[in-house]
Amino acid sequence: MPARLLDGSAVGRALRAEIRPSVDAFVTRTGRPPGLALVLVGNDPGSELYVASKLKSAGESGLRADIERLPADAALDDLLRLIDRLNRSSVHDGILVQSPLPSAMGPDAEHRVFDAIAPEKDVDGFHPVNVGKLVQGRGTLVACTPSGIIELLDRSGIVIEGANAVVIGRSDIVGKPMALLLMHRHATVTVCHSRTRDLPAIARQADILVAALGRPAFVTAGFVKPGSTVIDVGTTRVEDRKTIERLFPAGSARRQAYERRGALVLGDVHPEVEGIAGALTPVPGGVGPLTIAMLLKNTVRAAQACLEAAAGRQ
Ligand code: NAP
Repeated sequence: MPARLLDGSAVGRALRAEIRPSVDAFVTRTGRPPGLALVLVGNDPGSELYVASKLKSAGESGLRADIERLPADAALDDLLRLIDRLNRSSVHDGILVQSPLPSAMGPDAEHRVFDAIAPEKDVDGFHPVNVGKLVQGRGTLVACTPSGIIELLDRSGIVIEGANAVVIGRSDIVGKPMALLLMHRHATVTVCHSRTRDLPAIARQADILVAALGRPAFVTAGFVKPGSTVIDVGTTRVEDRKTIERLFPAGSARRQAYERRGALVLGDVHPEVEGIAGALTPVPGGVGPLTIAMLLKNTVRAAQACLEAAAGRQ
């Protein structure tokens, strides 16, 4: 029996509908919508697309969203000055700096930038204060992709408590916070990475398998326990015809989409896993929409927290 597809688009829509009353209440109380600043350095086409879709979703949910642009040759100091201005802005409750930053900014640019964002406006949940709170299980602004995945599991009736969860990938933005969130929800968590020995055997222990590697179709049937839940975080744009022909039969919907567009966005999970897993997130339409919904939710949370802090000071 093919896996049940977990509809991230539907859950994303539900999450966005749920924040609407909080947005309206905030507007009534303050006379302005919660505000999000999206910082884009350079004009990487992928980043342009991500930022445009965040801007659109924010507008549809009643939030204010502004793109703050810097040229590709901007210096790190220019970016830090912009963040300083946004930290002091009275209309922006959340700040997101789109990754990747130009490599000319230096190897530690992302850390320096995330450190510079005021923790209470850090809607990506990357500031060390917010990461520390997440480690302690009292995070409020938590990385959007992993927290969206928890929402999806909960709303799909997948039991986390007591489950064996395997996370492939240990990045700061997905793998590590994912592992922490699953652990806080009482899963038994194993984190795997590029040096893990016999990865398929470890992955096969998982009741919940999260693939966040950025390697298209890497997770094949041999990685998956029959009936388990597989969350595919990967998003890699693939143009190579041979890869597409190997993965999708002629005449299939994905193959037709490839013929129309000349490229497909692929997940980390091989299509054959659909015949083995019990539940699976599609790519696209799985994890992506959740990430954006959680970004908006975090922005509203940040705005509300700022209001409560101001009320407490009076
Ligand atoms: P990343 O920073 O490149 O991290 C990749 C992780 O995968 C690393 O920990 C790496 O191990 C591990 N890895 C790479 N090759 C491996 C292999 N052969 N075997 C085992 N582990 C391997 O990537 P990321 O930022 O976490 O993103 C991962 C993927 O998710 C990307 O495709 C990204 O585009 C996608 N993503 C999607 C969303 C969304 O909203 N849908 C959001 C964020 C990210 P080492 O640590 O040992 O190098």
